[in-house]
Amino acid sequence: MAALNKKSVDDINVKGQRVLCRCDFNVPLKDGKITDENRLVAALPTIKKLIADGGKVILCSHLGKVKTEEDKPSKTLAPVAKRLSELLGQEVRFAADPEVVGANARAAVEAMKDGEVILLENTRYRAEETKNGEAFSKDLASICDVFVNDAFGTAHRAHCSNVGVTQFVKTSVVGYLMQKEIEFLGNAVENPVRPFVAILGGAKVADKLNVIANLLEKCDTLIIGGGMAYTFAKAQGYEIGTSLCDDSKVEYCKEMIEKAEKLGKKLLLPVDAVTTDHFPDPIDDAAIETQTVDVDKIPADRMGMDIGPKTREMYADAVKNAKTVVWNGPMGVFENPVLAEGTKAVAKALADTDATTIIGGGDSAAAVNQLGYGDQMSHISTGGGASLEFLEGKELPGVAAANDR
Ligand code: AMP
Repeated sequence: MAALNKKSVDDINVKGQRVLCRCDFNVPLKDGKITDENRLVAALPTIKKLIADGGKVILCSHLGKVKTEEDKPSKTLAPVAKRLSELLGQEVRFAADPEVVGANARAAVEAMKDGEVILLENTRYRAEETKNGEAFSKDLASICDVFVNDAFGTAHRAHCSNVGVTQFVKTSVVGYLMQKEIEFLGNAVENPVRPFVAILGGAKVADKLNVIANLLEKCDTLIIGGGMAYTFAKAQGYEIGTSLCDDSKVEYCKEMIEKAEKLGKKLLLPVDAVTTDHFPDPIDDAAIETQTVDVDKIPADRMGMDIGPKTREMYADAVKNAKTVVWNGPMGVFENPVLAEGTKAVAKALADTDATTIIGGGDSAAAVNQLGYGDQMSHISTGGGASLEFLEGKELPGVAAANDR
């Protein structure tokens, strides 16, 4: 497991040191207001630890995509500094600076006392950030003695603020959130308590090819739902009407079905589907007409939009006796309440099981939280893309860059 042999904030003494802590404050904003603060809350344990240990805590993060100068005003981290101050019960000074690490930020760092906290401007104000450019990496390194990476959500990317900076700082460690994410996901994939059930959904097979292949080797049961299930249904020889299908991946799905058989793994595919006659419009089709049919009887002019009741029962049953469950991706077009029953059923099954349950970020995390099952899961990842790459068995650059124990 990659991160367990990485140094963490527990392995260093930051008293009087300038600590640059890369967090994932990439939160949704509406009219300057944070609409989901899970990522801020998840970052608190590391920040509190660094404050308690007497570090000068310099926080940084990206926020959204910054492509042009015009994007910048709506992508400032200023609202995050304000909310973070409230959550911490201590001022988080916002170091407004168009250069992120320019004269203003440097002056703010210079003036810091032990235990104080500042937040730098959105790292993507600097175009080099996403290119892992040397100048910005050096700028970031120049204002700190120690680097802490607690941004799991970006750990699958090699950018200045999570990877480049480590080349110019002597001490680089991971924070508690990063540690927790990797312990849960790492244990699930590399050392699971069995039976280990993996559930994959979402739109396209193509996005999850490596996850399917890797999880099939690691798990005992692999459950497939969502849009990608219909390419599998086609591979099983069924007509799937106008359901989402990736024709170039039908062969791949056949190979996976054969691989599961060869490895003696259970591969569960939908046996029935909730169908509609068109893809629902989010506003006009709130009460879209549906018909539930067996998966081998989807009419030519209809599309599979959710797993049907027999499939829901079968999937819930498979989860019941599991000891470890990992879930990534919705079972249907859950944005429409009529087509959310499959996703709800899986969320409920996970809430009801005694297994260690791990939600791999993104839509499934949002669904679980919306349904009020959030606190019944063992772990909800803060990183959709990062958790998927982890489930693919890839080493994440943001983790690899931290010092080994
Ligand atoms: P992903 O980003 O790959 O996890 O996909 C999430 C998206 O998949 C959601 O927006 C769902 O609406 C969509 N989705 C789930 N099931 C289906 C389906 N049967 N047909 C088309 N899209 C689907």
